[in-house]
Amino acid sequence: MTTQKTVPLIELPKSLDQLSASEIERKACIGKIMTYTLRNLTGKFVDSGFQWLLPVALSQSTDPLWPDPGASIEKRIEVDIYGKPVRTTASMIIHKLIASSIAYPKLFILSPNIRIEKAERAKTGKHIYEFTQLDFEARDATSKDIFALVEDALIGLVTSLKRDMKTELTTLCRCDTIKVPKKSFKIYDKEDLETEYGADWETELAASIKDPVWVTNIPREFYDFEDFKTGKWDNYDLFLPQFGEVLSGAKREWEYSKIFKKIERDQVKKENYSLLIKLAKEGKIKPSAGAGIGMERLVGWIAGVQHIAETQPFPRVPGTVHQL
Ligand code: AMP
Ligand code: MG
Repeated sequence: MTTQKTVPLIELPKSLDQLSASEIERKACIGKIMTYTLRNLTGKFVDSGFQWLLPVALSQSTDPLWPDPGASIEKRIEVDIYGKPVRTTASMIIHKLIASSIAYPKLFILSPNIRIEKAERAKTGKHIYEFTQLDFEARDATSKDIFALVEDALIGLVTSLKRDMKTELTTLCRCDTIKVPKKSFKIYDKEDLETEYGADWETELAASIKDPVWVTNIPREFYDFEDFKTGKWDNYDLFLPQFGEVLSGAKREWEYSKIFKKIERDQVKKENYSLLIKLAKEGKIKPSAGAGIGMERLVGWIAGVQHIAETQPFPRVPGTVHQL
């Protein structure tokens, strides 16, 4: 007999004008948790000496999102302005590498990302086509430094939320189920998880863990650090229990020869990364590490939503375009 996995029935989030009174109350609660979370985390980064950069929406250089096994982009938005082709921001990774190398050693950005995900991702509950990353980078930092920073930030956030947002968490039935995580989070190697769980390791891992965990050694885009001798990647994802990936990050490549080799290997268009390549050749790209936290996913986990677009005032569900 074959066993069939049951796909949970997910109701797709509606636009503001279509909500019932109880749905509006829920939306307002989630909105308060988003506000609290933004204030708490941006405060933590500012207090830790990070500079707050404002985002850009159009650039020649943006995240290739390739080759990332998790990426599923239906369309890339490119327009010409002033006679030059620009793309909408998929992530500000290239900006972070250059900015942290040159003028802002510790930086963060609340960065709106546009990724036109395939419409079939509407019901994963984890994908939206516009979202915001709390994207940060620190010159000379190691993966361990980033683990410590993120673990402290998450523990501080959940502790404060449980103290200050009891009413909202109770309305959302999360008061008892959300637990303050403990340091240090376990670290798993992606290869071991694949051996244990097979191709669907992400879903299985999210369902099986009781506490947040790190996953390392994930082959993906050229800017994450890869040890050419061992073949291991010094990068990481943070997985939250009963939810899944909420953050991706890495120690970064800074050496010209490696960056160039990997861009060629990935068959990514060199002309889109010519400034990064030039600066790396001049030795101006400095070692760094960082990560991006998906704000809708983080708040979605805190609020216990079925679909992360519930955390958006103006939902961006793949395949659906509302008026607002
Ligand atoms: P990435 O580096 O591509 O993994 O993106 C960084 C973080 O942004 C992820 O860990 C997610 O929290 C979030 N993210 C990425 N893609 C999406 C999406 N389509 N919808 C919502 N959040 C996303
Ligand atoms: Mg990721």
